[in-house]
Amino acid sequence: MERLKIELLGAPILRQRAADVDVVDDEVRDLVRRMFDAMYAANGQGLAAPQVGIPRRIVVLDLPHEDTPSYALVNPRVVERAEERARGEEGCLSIPGVTEIVERPARVVVEAVDADGAPLRIEADGELARCLQHEIDHLDGILYIDHLSPLKRKMLLARYRKQQTRTVDA
Ligand SMILES: [Zn+2]
Repeated sequence: MERLKIELLGAPILRQRAADVDVVDDEVRDLVRRMFDAMYAANGQGLAAPQVGIPRRIVVLDLPHEDTPSYALVNPRVVERAEERARGEEGCLSIPGVTEIVERPARVVVEAVDADGAPLRIEADGELARCLQHEIDHLDGILYIDHLSPLKRKMLLARYRKQQTRTVDA
């Protein structure tokens, strides 16, 4: 089967709200498998369905440097956020080649159902909390660059465009 194509910054679907999944069926499980394939092929650690052109509330993540399992989350929601905030580096498969420091709540609790339709509750801190928030943001059309100051965002986009031009030239 053809590998899912990752949509890049500028694709309208990255700015749309994704729809809830009503039933976790074989079609959803097949999509989850293909999303994991696309994520690993791109050396990513998280991927949301809108990033592969599918406006549904599904994310996959697998943090290679953390002692956490891989997750496939359907209809995930952040149900609690710590007031304490933490800063950490983020990048995005839809904005390849650039990263920036982003500040977010340090800890979150996420509820979702897994690829078997079973309820799941994740109490996360550190890199997992950051990645969960980044991926769930995608389901609401929010990108990590939206959390940057206007100046930081402008500078990051300039670096991104410069690098995209080089890629096209090569
Ligand atoms: Zn992303």
